[in-house]
Amino acid sequence: MATIGFIGLGNMGAPMAANLVKSGEHVLGFDVVPALGQASGQDGVQIVANARGTVENADVVISMLPAGEHVLSVWNDIAPHARQGTLFIDCSTIDVTSARKAHALAAARGIATLDAPVSGGVGGAKAATLTFMVGGSQEAFARGKPLLERMGKRVVHCGEAGNGQVAKICNNMILGAAMIAVSEAFVLGEKLGLSHQALFDVASASSGQCWSLTSYCPVPGPVPTSPANNGYKPGFAAALMLKDLKLAREAAASVNAKTALGAHAADIYGEFAQQGHSAADFSAIINLVREQSKRG
Ligand code: NAD
Repeated sequence: MATIGFIGLGNMGAPMAANLVKSGEHVLGFDVVPALGQASGQDGVQIVANARGTVENADVVISMLPAGEHVLSVWNDIAPHARQGTLFIDCSTIDVTSARKAHALAAARGIATLDAPVSGGVGGAKAATLTFMVGGSQEAFARGKPLLERMGKRVVHCGEAGNGQVAKICNNMILGAAMIAVSEAFVLGEKLGLSHQALFDVASASSGQCWSLTSYCPVPGPVPTSPANNGYKPGFAAALMLKDLKLAREAAASVNAKTALGAHAADIYGEFAQQGHSAADFSAIINLVREQSKRG
């Protein structure tokens, strides 16, 4: 049995930590919100008083935090207290620059590191079916992979430090733009008298086929499990899609990559958020397209 430190017991971290406990690991957990610690305590996580308490006896420390500033601050705090040979894994979605800084600050103390952001959302975290996109050395990856497999079903090594975050933002830039494109097609079809089912039957078997259509259709009916059938309850919240599209836009600017559609998708989700829909599933973006199609 290994001892795993787990920092950040929110929507994603709590079920991930619980799955590690279920798989037989000893998990030391911490969150700045005490009530979250209490909830994870009921899952068998041993709650400690602060982030440092997760690291002192840990073989591996996992962080699942909101943004780059939190990861850098927490890793700065805990790195001096890590044992020789500890592996740090950050599973948060953060900007590439902070991810690479986090690797460097730990490496300066001889700590092995991985960035391992996830896709699959809260449902995937609970069911241990997440996909991990991992950046870091081959050696660190070989050590971290068996542990990540207890929380997910696919673990993909994407290359050196920070490349997990690069893969994550590239994937979600495709997803955000594709969901808007699918939504526009349904709204155009509606206005021209085409039924949702007819468009689905054609496009799902034609060159318009994509995951946003066939697995996560933004209109109720064709894909019974999609959030559209459940009042657009997330799923994957529009706020998180906006976050990832902004990270992609920021990263694109830093290397002068021309990502016009990704940037436009960020603007569209930004407008949706400003209208107060951040908590809805990101596929609810079809409602913005529909509403704007009524104007003028
Ligand atoms: P969350 O806000 O529910 O959880 C983050 C937790 O970190 C909170 O409980 C917060 O109290 C805690 N925290 C903040 N600062 C801390 C500190 N200094 N020390 C200890 N704990 C601290 O967010 P989430 O939905 O669990 O997402 C976590 C990460 O996973 C984010 O980076 C998010 O972008 C990413 N992600 C989320 C989803 C999703 O569907 N929710 C999907 C994929 C990726």
